[in-house]
Amino acid sequence: MSRLVVLAGPTAVGKGTVVRALRVSRPDIWVSVSATTRSPRPGEVDGEHYFFVSDDEFDRMVAAGELLEWASVHGDRRYGTPRGPVEERLAQGTPCLLEIDLQGARQVKASMPDALFVFLAPPSWEELVRRLVGRGTETEAERERRLATARDELAAVEEFDETVVNDDLDRAVAAVAHLVEHAR
Ligand code: 5GP
Repeated sequence: MSRLVVLAGPTAVGKGTVVRALRVSRPDIWVSVSATTRSPRPGEVDGEHYFFVSDDEFDRMVAAGELLEWASVHGDRRYGTPRGPVEERLAQGTPCLLEIDLQGARQVKASMPDALFVFLAPPSWEELVRRLVGRGTETEAERERRLATARDELAAVEEFDETVVNDDLDRAVAAVAHLVEHAR
């Protein structure tokens, strides 16, 4: 069995970017593909970045107990981790990483307390705000909602085993990879 590693952190801290880079540079580390009810962004591929599912299909997955954890992240959009693939990889001893939001991380902590919980932190609050605004893919109302979430999420750092500061992409990717490799 390998030990599950959970990477979480505030909205727009760059979890997605770190994990995309890690997938390219470290194909030996298996990264879970989440199910989501949100629509694909340009360039996102079904089954690769997410499994894009309908609300009905998500309901079915929840009812069938197919999700290890799930949460509504931005308003009514739901995201969840398919349980089967994670359990298979862990049983095979493959290094496994989940990139999920804080609510999901708390659920995993309740069901798999032996996992290693890694918090991806922004270099500063100002930098987090700059990144959030800079991405420009959200509406004003959406941005306000994400900022409010980020404030609460920053305070959660204390619940985690390890912190990686995302000040430099290559360094953050290396730090996460190191933690996954040494999670035993
Ligand atoms: P985005 O829509 O920008 O790809 O992701 C939005 C948020 O959803 C991110 O904070 C990401 O960590 C979170 N997320 C992605 N997949 C999952 C999942 O399977 N479970 C949970 N709880 N959150 C997820």
